[in-house]
Formats: sequence, structure tokens, C-alpha cells
Amino acid sequence: VQGYAGRCVAVLGLGRSGLATCHALAAGGALPLAWDDSPDARARAEAEGVALHDLSRADWSQVAALVSSPGIAHLYPEPNRHIAAALAAGVPVDNDIGLFFRSFATADTMAMDQPPKVVAVTGSNGKSTTTALIHHILTALGRPCQMAGNIGTGVLSITPPVEGEVVVLELSSYQTELARALTPDIAVFTNLSPDHLDRHGGMGGYFAAKRRLFAEGGPDRAVIGVDEPEGLFMAGQLAEAAEDARVIRISSGQKLAGPGWNIFARKGFLAEYRAGRQVASIDLRAMPGLPGAHNHQNACAAYAVARSLGAAPRVIEDAMASFTGLPHRSQLVAEAGGVRYINDSKATNADSAAKALQAFERIRWIAGGLGKDGGITALAQHLDRVTKAYLIGHSARDFALQLGEHPHEVCDTIEQATARAMAEAQTGDTVLLAPAAASFDQFPDFEARGSAFIAAVQAGLGRT
Ligand code: ADP
Repeated sequence: VQGYAGRCVAVLGLGRSGLATCHALAAGGALPLAWDDSPDARARAEAEGVALHDLSRADWSQVAALVSSPGIAHLYPEPNRHIAAALAAGVPVDNDIGLFFRSFATADTMAMDQPPKVVAVTGSNGKSTTTALIHHILTALGRPCQMAGNIGTGVLSITPPVEGEVVVLELSSYQTELARALTPDIAVFTNLSPDHLDRHGGMGGYFAAKRRLFAEGGPDRAVIGVDEPEGLFMAGQLAEAAEDARVIRISSGQKLAGPGWNIFARKGFLAEYRAGRQVASIDLRAMPGLPGAHNHQNACAAYAVARSLGAAPRVIEDAMASFTGLPHRSQLVAEAGGVRYINDSKATNADSAAKALQAFERIRWIAGGLGKDGGITALAQHLDRVTKAYLIGHSARDFALQLGEHPHEVCDTIEQATARAMAEAQTGDTVLLAPAAASFDQFPDFEARGSAFIAAVQAGLGRT
């Protein structure tokens, strides 16, 4: 990271991105003042050779900037004291994404004939899948490409991009909210549903955080999901403020045949319309890595990006067909005795679980964990697809109450729930893990929960 040589920069939060920030600042000649309020995190940082500096004793007049980590709640539910102290002293607050864009803009890449481009993907659900799909398509097309941010490598740990390379970033609302520079060439907004509202002080703050990617003077191309009023509004504003060609509207379910550039998926087909005329269509039904309407939305987003980078529809179609999907997102674990086993452990909120329920039928549904506001009340309309629910974790009894008369059983663990679902499943059923809850009550993360499900399925099938 350039621009801070010889100056002190406070780094708050010493997880993966905080440590990478310390190293990147030091490599650029700055003096990182590293701090984390958690003694464990401090011990890990020291073990990596990072020198600590207690920020509650900082002389802010000597500090050029404070770089905060995505895990730090800066304002809600209550203001972070270090950030408040820095701001009171007039010290700018930034994060690793802001540092990345600042150094990217000043790097020698500007002299290249084909400077590297940055694609940034945000939204409530589908970010990782869309990011990985874009990366997969571009790689299949032979274009140098790397992905970073919330997926894969931290932004400050990527290898310096070469001529013509595309860096695809997955950005959460926590990351977009604080970055002082956010200048992707192409920005994608997949969709919006309530999540993480405690950190953003409500839905308005959450949308505002994501919207920063599309601020004035923003990306050359904005790919925007218009299935919620917020996306529709933002697309309308951007299209009106600039020439319409800057905006590509995407939808899963709605036919978008209006003026401008539109890409939508309906009944298993993706269609591209420009100025009211269809220019291409792709059959998504047989794409193994993209089951369900929600993945068709992700396909539209990735297609829009690949088109923006000059790829032809047929070539994109071929590349999509070899995408196998990400683990823990509608992942086919096994198919045995006429029963399918699907791991969607990443369905940590009601909206993503709803999408999973819509993608399958005759479902034996394993759900529960650390429930979110509203629990599964929003899922009532999808229960006709659920033969029976097998409930686990902290929220099991709450979910049981919300299910009322609908067949369900409270199981303690994912192993028990899986064994019960397997024992009761009939030919044509799908055993689906889509918890509609966070994993932290019983597991370190959603990956561990998905792996426990896979192990339980394999054990039940005698494949251990
Ligand atoms: P994110 O990175 O935004 O959390 P993922 O691609 O990891 O998104 O998917 C998270 C969860 O949401 C998974 O359960 C997945 O099946 C579901 N999902 C994926 N794409 C979408 C979408 N476009 N809309 C709603 N849910 C989705």
C-alpha cells in the first residue's frame, strides 16, 4: 500500500484482513499501529511478528488514518470507542478495501495498454456464487482473473494484476460501508433482503452501505438486480443520471423487455434484451452448478459482467455449463435409493432458505441453529414443498412453534436429524439442509455445519 510512507496508520481488528493490512502497510514503508480489543487476537498477531500498540493510548495527532476490519461494528449497536476517538481527532477512517482501491488507482497499471479491471459484487445473497461464476467464466475464456475480498484471498494479499487481468471482489455491506475509495469498473448488486440489520441500524443503513458502490462517478457499468424496490429505484436513478447504457438490469422471474439493456431468467431460460429486442438466450435448466431460480439470478449477473467485458453469448454459455457450484450452496452431496441429499448450509437467513425450498420438492428439511429475527415465519408459504422438518440447534423449539401443525420433529444434533430424515425418506424425496439460521450455536462456521451434514449422509449410506 502506497501513500503512507513514514507515517503511522492505526489498524483496528487483527483477524485475517487486519493482519494482511499490517503487512501491506509495512511493505509500503508505513508504521502500522496494530490493535485488537480481544487478547486472543492480539496473541495471534504477536505470534505472526506484528508489534502491538494500544489504541486507547494513541496520540491521534500523529496518526494518518485508521484502518478498521469488517468484523468491527463501528456505529451500531454502539459506536466503537477507537473509531470515535480517531474521528473526533480528525483522523480519516478507512478499511482494506479502501486501501486496495487507492493503491490500485495509483499503480503502474495505468501505463498498460489494457489495464486490469475490477469487478465488485455486493447484495444480500448470491455474492459468493456470482463472484465464483464470473471467475469461472473468465478463466474458461482464457482471461487472467483472480477473486478476492469476502471470498478467497483478502484484497491486500492478491498478486499484482497483470495486463488485461480482471480482479473480481466479493464485498459485504460491512466492507462497502467504510471504504474511502470504491471505484470498481463494473459493480454488481444481486438482491436485497434483511440481514445484519443490527450492525447497520436497520434496513435503510444496510441498503445505504451497499449503495455506496454505485455512488456518483461510480462504475462504468452497473449490473443491478431489480426484483426488489430498492434495486429498481437505484437502477432507475442511475439510468436517468447517466446514459442508460451504463446500467444492466437483471431479474429472476420478471420479463424485462423495456428500453435499455436487460437480462432476465424465466422458466429456466436466460434472455438478453437490448432496446426492447431479444439478442440472445441460454437454456439454464441443465447447468449442473446452477440449480434453482436463485442461481439463475446469479447466472444473469455473471452473464452481464462477462458481456460487459466483451464475451459472446455462446462462449459464456459453454463456460457456465462447466461450473460445478460452490460447496455448501445447493451442493449435491449424494443421490442414493432415489433420494437426493443437498447441502445448503450457507442458507443462514430466511430469504436464502426460501430460495432453497423453492428449488426442490418433496423435501425433508433440516433446519435450525442460531435463529435470526422473525425466525422462519416468512417461510410459511413454501411449506407445501416440505414433507417434514427435522429441527436442530438453539432455535429448534422456536421453529417448532412456528411450524405449528406442519409435520416436524425436534432433533438435538445434525447427525440425529440426518439419520431420522434418511430413515424416513422415500424414493423421489430430497433431504435438504437449509438451516435459515446461523451456525455458531453448534459449529465454528457454516462450512463445519455443512461438512457435518455430508459426513452424516456418507455414514448413513455406509460410505465412510
Ligand atoms: P453470499 O455470498 O451473498 O452469502 P452465496 O452465494 O454464498 O451468497 O449464497 C448464500 C445462500 O443464499 C446459499 O444458501 C445460496 O443457496 C443462497 N443463494 C444463492 N444465490 C442466491 C440468490 N441470488 N438469491 C437468494 N439466495 C441465493
